[in-house]
Amino acid sequence: MSEQIYIGVDLGGTAIKVGICNEEGQLLHTYEGPTEVEKGPDAVVDNIERYVRLIVEQSPYEWDQLAGVGAGVAGFTNVRDGIIIFAPNVGLKDLHIRSILEQRLGKPVRIDNDANVAALGEVWAGAGKGVSNCVCYTLGTGVGGGIIVNGAIYQGFAGLAGELGHMSVVPDLEAIQCGCGKMGCLETVSSATGVIRMAKDAVERGDRTSLSQVENIMAKDVFDAAKSGDEAAIRIVNRAAFYLGKSLAAVSAVLNPQRFIIGGGVSKAGDILFNEVRSVYAKLTPEPLQEGVDIVPAILGNDAGMIGAAGLFLH
Ligand SMILES: [Zn+2]
Repeated sequence: MSEQIYIGVDLGGTAIKVGICNEEGQLLHTYEGPTEVEKGPDAVVDNIERYVRLIVEQSPYEWDQLAGVGAGVAGFTNVRDGIIIFAPNVGLKDLHIRSILEQRLGKPVRIDNDANVAALGEVWAGAGKGVSNCVCYTLGTGVGGGIIVNGAIYQGFAGLAGELGHMSVVPDLEAIQCGCGKMGCLETVSSATGVIRMAKDAVERGDRTSLSQVENIMAKDVFDAAKSGDEAAIRIVNRAAFYLGKSLAAVSAVLNPQRFIIGGGVSKAGDILFNEVRSVYAKLTPEPLQEGVDIVPAILGNDAGMIGAAGLFLH
């Protein structure tokens, strides 16, 4: 039998993305189909099975070469028992997904949450290649995170390690409530949602900003305005960067990772964000802890989920 392949499934609210990887973390073949959450849990599981079988049929590989199927799920997961505890966007709850898929596919299955899996993907085949102690932030609608210690995902006591978006970093007087119910979480300022909220606040306050001309402000509008010198927009980006940098400093003191990898929509702000994050990090982190540490953008983009899910078998 020729080389072994692994399938990574990125199970999201609108699409299920399936990718075939080799043992080096190279993405060889991909397939994407609708999740069809509206048809209920059974349809979602049927779709996963169908897409996994389809991608192998469409590829030059044989079913026998498939050594395992990994899945990254947007939601809370019990990794040890292979259970999706609660994944509201995917419409799944208390589902023994691993045993169901293993039975249907006749292959070993592993699961983890999407942020952990994306982190593993970056470390295996992306911005963290060759670096075995990394912390990844994904700045999207919320702020997700994944911690890689000695090349493997660090799970913590209940599998909830890496909830970096819920580090409380904003001081009381400025804090607003997070979706998790607590006050002052990183996610309230450094996610796309946080950036948009700060921009709308600035417009409502009557700050002089070009953003007042924008009808439906997106995070990208704020970054574009900041790049062209809009002071209100620059303040917003700096604020998002400040609290992100502050959280990096705290994480450094706890874990001493070698590399921070920042991905997700907000990371597309580029240098205006990264320069400020690096400067805040340098200011707040004791020098020995900064030694040899870098802060870099993620490079796999939306493929990180598929690649990392396949990587659950090799780490
Ligand atoms: Zn929170």
